[in-house]
Amino acid sequence: MSSVSLDALTDQIRVRTAEVQARIEAACARSGRSPDTVTLIAVTKTFPVEVVQAAVAAGLRDFGENRVQELVAKSDVLPGEVLAGAIRWHLIGSLQRNKARDAAARADLFHALDSMRLAEALDKRAAQEERVLPCLVQVNVSGEDTKSGVEPDAVHAFVDDLAAFAHLRVLGLMTLAAPAASPEEVDTLVRPQFRHLRRLAESYGGANPHATTTMLSMGMSGDYEVAIEEGATHVRLGTALFGARG
Ligand SMILES: *Cc1c(COP(=O)(O)O)cnc(C)c1O
Repeated sequence: MSSVSLDALTDQIRVRTAEVQARIEAACARSGRSPDTVTLIAVTKTFPVEVVQAAVAAGLRDFGENRVQELVAKSDVLPGEVLAGAIRWHLIGSLQRNKARDAAARADLFHALDSMRLAEALDKRAAQEERVLPCLVQVNVSGEDTKSGVEPDAVHAFVDDLAAFAHLRVLGLMTLAAPAASPEEVDTLVRPQFRHLRRLAESYGGANPHATTTMLSMGMSGDYEVAIEEGATHVRLGTALFGARG
């Protein structure tokens, strides 16, 4: 990729980021929140590392990948905070236990903790890396059978049980909403799911002294404004920033 096209890409991402930021600010204004309570995660999955470099040049600092191999490859070039780099890598997709080592070594925040067996594997690997891995618990609020995530009525007990793992630090909850067919459905179908996640976080009793549920990772390109109105602290945007994935 020539430097000219990298510059053009950076300009394009800068324009799109400014549009997204304006919408984030408007959603914050509607709900009486400060825009700096919302972290914009740029989801770069399937895009080459040059796109991440252009996004860094455009001012973005938080990046999301749903496959750990892709996160490792890109963080080799652009290290995250855990490797003393200047950006943060968010692992936002479900993880197989045999990939726990890479996740524990490279993710700055893991968004998809959803089973005790995975927690056990990650805790062991994080201990080997001599670090504490910040995690979010993924919750299946949409009730779709195909979605991973802890069932809503099991979340509080799950967070309590994670107290057993000294090398994991729970910071909040994450969800993937059901896909909406229209803006109306974002309001009628998706909004209640985001509200549900926020209520689960707010009602956590705090029996695990190493856990807080202050972070809420919810909202993608089609529904992030509603997610922010419902309390999202982290929105995960791919298409809105980089266009359709090939
Ligand atoms: C791909 C992905 C996103 C981004 O989706 P867009 O609709 O492109 O914004 C967000 N979260 C997760 C978990 C993803 O896998």
